[in-house]
Amino acid sequence: MITRQQIEQLQAFQNGTFLVTSCYLNLDRRDLPAAAHKIRIKDLLQSAQQQLDKKAGTHQQRESLRCDFAEIEARVLPELATNRCKAMAVFSCVGEKFWQTFSLPRLGRNILVADHAPHLQPLNAILAEYHRYCIVIVDRAHGRIFETYLGEIVERGDVTDELPRRVREAGQGGRDERNMERHFTQVVEHHYQHLADATFKLFKKDHFDRLILAGQREAVHEFQKHLHPDLAKRVVGDFHADPAKITLPEVSQQAGAIEQRFERDHELQIATELVEKDGHGAVTGLTAVLAALDRGEAQMLVVEEGFEKPGQACFGCHYPSLLPAECPHCHQPTEPCADIVDEVVALALHRNCRIKHLQGATPLRDAGRIGARLRFQVA
Ligand SMILES: [Zn+2]
Repeated sequence: MITRQQIEQLQAFQNGTFLVTSCYLNLDRRDLPAAAHKIRIKDLLQSAQQQLDKKAGTHQQRESLRCDFAEIEARVLPELATNRCKAMAVFSCVGEKFWQTFSLPRLGRNILVADHAPHLQPLNAILAEYHRYCIVIVDRAHGRIFETYLGEIVERGDVTDELPRRVREAGQGGRDERNMERHFTQVVEHHYQHLADATFKLFKKDHFDRLILAGQREAVHEFQKHLHPDLAKRVVGDFHADPAKITLPEVSQQAGAIEQRFERDHELQIATELVEKDGHGAVTGLTAVLAALDRGEAQMLVVEEGFEKPGQACFGCHYPSLLPAECPHCHQPTEPCADIVDEVVALALHRNCRIKHLQGATPLRDAGRIGARLRFQVA
């Protein structure tokens, strides 16, 4: 599972002596057969190699890069055969013995950049589209904590407390019995607090976005009272479970259903808001979105998954246009392009604009299947 610590480590990686290669590869077989992906990746590595050989740089740098490319080819191409992930990001600096890979749920076009720091914009944009969920399974003495992100699930810890025995002995009066009950309740309350503290500790470390609770209705209800306010507001649902018996695939399936429902509602809300605010803080339709992106006004690009449209693009800077035109930046005539939505997403990435893909039909479908939330309020 991709952790915050990995991302931080990557952000901190800066190097003066060698360059670091950042390579994003689309391996999705729905887009292309494996053999075609392979050719594309080999072409990408080869042309990058040629360009870098021409550019100035020390012999050491060039050698490190050559090894990066060889390593990427040797390690990533076999991934195509396994069909395990739809895309990958690889960060390599052989000169510093640095190598990190991430499985990604999606990617537009392949990207290869060699620079003094890792090229993280595409990774950050993809990760920002997905939410990290924490799942806490609770009963009176035993709690378990899980985390799920990008379809992967990991158990993060458990909290167990000893419950006092509740035996009624002969000759005991009502008062003793009440004391015993009170003691029992206190121990349970302490356990809930331990579990809530452990969950908050994980939150401070991993910054998960949302929380799902599971257990018997009463235990979940009582436990919730012990949650830190920052956590209480992140609870998005609960399900019935026995912490002693539930398996990892069961947790994944039950939490997955809640996550899907919640994310779907969230996407509907984004789409509805865009359509309602069209012209006042938002735009919809390709023409308006393009104009907003070009003016640097788009704050978040929202696009329906699978939306493609042929158009025109500048060969030099990828500037997309619906109709043949002169690129306003390079002053070259645009050329036909198979899918300008892909170019629009690339442009948004370049402009540091957030990107959100919508799954399935939303109100945006009848509004051009693409829209943008704007940075500045348009009067
Ligand atoms: Zn251009």
